[in-house]
Amino acid sequence: MSANVLVVEDEPQIQELLAVNLEHAGHRVRRAASAEEAEAAIRAALPDVVLLDWMLPGESGLSLARRLRGDERTRDLPILMLTARAMENDKISGLEAGADDYLTKPFSPRELNARIKAVLRRRAPQLSGEAVEVEGLRLDPATHRVSAGAERISLSPAEFKLLHFLLTHPGRVYSRAQLLDQVWGDHVYIEERTVDVHIRRLRKALEPTGHDRLIDTVRGTGYGLRTA
Ligand code: CA
Repeated sequence: MSANVLVVEDEPQIQELLAVNLEHAGHRVRRAASAEEAEAAIRAALPDVVLLDWMLPGESGLSLARRLRGDERTRDLPILMLTARAMENDKISGLEAGADDYLTKPFSPRELNARIKAVLRRRAPQLSGEAVEVEGLRLDPATHRVSAGAERISLSPAEFKLLHFLLTHPGRVYSRAQLLDQVWGDHVYIEERTVDVHIRRLRKALEPTGHDRLIDTVRGTGYGLRTA
């Protein structure tokens, strides 16, 4: 599993330790030393997971977590809170602010990676590398194959990613901006109507086996995967 991780930590040595360990585990790492820097990084490109230190100069990690949860674009962003505090009350306020999990300093690299993996498996299943199947439509990230029974369906890389994201997030509606973030990773440089073009191509590719009906258009909102 390889993810884009944003490390938000003001202590240079801990930031370095986190980044090195995560890169060693195969992740791509960006770094921020304050809530302000973190927000700028998130604006530029949505990461797959944020490793967020509680104690930051200026705005605290806790307050940033709360704000990220309140914003539509970052509402579902996986957050792993990092703290020196091990008090039960602090843990609860962290989780209430919207953190997915908690890592207490000092931690071992193994614990760090296990927690990151667990958060991603829960919140970003499209990164897990596991095959997914919905109503006979099967997508395997390991072999980059999409099939319906014996029928092979050929997709461009963008349509593959789009379908992968939709298949792993059934029953929810995503705006074009959210899909751009999830599929293209950077919403800034691509026009939103690009999403419509790829959805159209994806539907066409799925048409012969009737799986185009899985893709739901919600007028004025966006797209989702229809659940039975
Ligand atoms: Ca700190």
